Amino acid sequence: MDNILVLNAGSSSLKFAVFDLAVTDLRAGGIVQSLDSPEACFLMKTSAGGSRSCCLPGATIVEALEKIISEVSAESSLAAIGHRVVHGGEFFGGASRIDEASLGEIERCGRLAPLHNPRSVAVIREVLRQFPKTPQAAVFDTAFHQSLPPKAFHYAIPYDFYAKHRIRRYGFHGISHAYVGEQAARRLGLAFSDLNAITVHLGNGCSACAIRQGRSADTTMGLTPLEGLVMGNRSGDVDPAMHAFLAECENLSLRQVDEILNHKSGLLGLSGLSNDMRTLAAAEAAGNERARLAIDVFCHRLAKAVLSMGASLETIDALVFTGGIGENSPSVRERTLAQLGVLGVRCDPELNRSHGLGSQGRITTEDSAVPAFVIEANEELAIARETCRFLKPAPQIRLKSG
Ligand code: AMP
Repeated sequence: MDNILVLNAGSSSLKFAVFDLAVTDLRAGGIVQSLDSPEACFLMKTSAGGSRSCCLPGATIVEALEKIISEVSAESSLAAIGHRVVHGGEFFGGASRIDEASLGEIERCGRLAPLHNPRSVAVIREVLRQFPKTPQAAVFDTAFHQSLPPKAFHYAIPYDFYAKHRIRRYGFHGISHAYVGEQAARRLGLAFSDLNAITVHLGNGCSACAIRQGRSADTTMGLTPLEGLVMGNRSGDVDPAMHAFLAECENLSLRQVDEILNHKSGLLGLSGLSNDMRTLAAAEAAGNERARLAIDVFCHRLAKAVLSMGASLETIDALVFTGGIGENSPSVRERTLAQLGVLGVRCDPELNRSHGLGSQGRITTEDSAVPAFVIEANEELAIARETCRFLKPAPQIRLKSG
């Protein structure tokens, strides 16, 4: 039985999913988490209801890959392997078949995503070594946003910095924005190329995207995934002058300020409690004022960002919530929609509450000027579909005889 393996190398984990060739059936999925630490462990679930787990203390990403391959290729052969790659720079405007040339470009983009791209490259090189004949594809978080017009991707800093260092908005979560956009278009009976929508991916990382006729027209994340919305541990937008001010006040280096904004801010920093929306919601219900503040700031900034995405659209066919928070927190959705009255959006509290645990669908009233939907993120499925394209045999060129 031939399968497609999807690999997603994170900064401390390696996730995987196995699909059939038609990409209709998720056969297995799992993760090796807490890599490079004594707690590293392997977890896997199969569609038949089986599960396996074991400890892999100290496992590196390459050892994690070996474990995954030994498990998934024990029962099936791999027809193709798709990799999520965080940064494709300006080079990759879509998925790419992996060869030495494309791998070299992915390595060069590592300067822009030092925690992620080098790990993907390590995984890809090992897969190439073990399966030199199996097609591999790279699917990029940034690629969907390569359609951003210059007015949306340029920062208003001296142009030379763009010319010399390619400092610009790249945007991330593109695989997710494109996927839920396609799902929304399907629900509305539209071709994706006709869809105008605003999608918000709210997970540990959060971003919003303006989709104009099926292409990304603007997004909130920028040169790095720190910009934009409030996130679990990341501040999102702050006054850029804050870096120097904070460094002086607290006698910190710029690197330390960067660390605070990336790891100790966001929901965690504001609440002083947790980066997890579930914990904050429970604390807020119990009267914790800082938890309430953190959620209020999160929703306010999200509503502001949705309105700013509207500047790139003439009409809005749909507003889409996805990601762990977007799919599972009716309260965040309701509070955000309540601040979008200016768009004529009207939340249906009952419908909204009914989409709490893994269910999808519309959450606005019939007369809402813009329908809002909850749609489940499925980046692995999207990567598997893209990878399939590289399985198709190249068209045969027939030479005329004589
Ligand atoms: P993701 O990165 O998409 O897996 O999303 C992870 C985040 O989703 C977690 O940090 C939680 O804050 C959030 N989340 C997951 N389940 C729930 C829930 N039932 N209610 C609120 N937030 C949730």
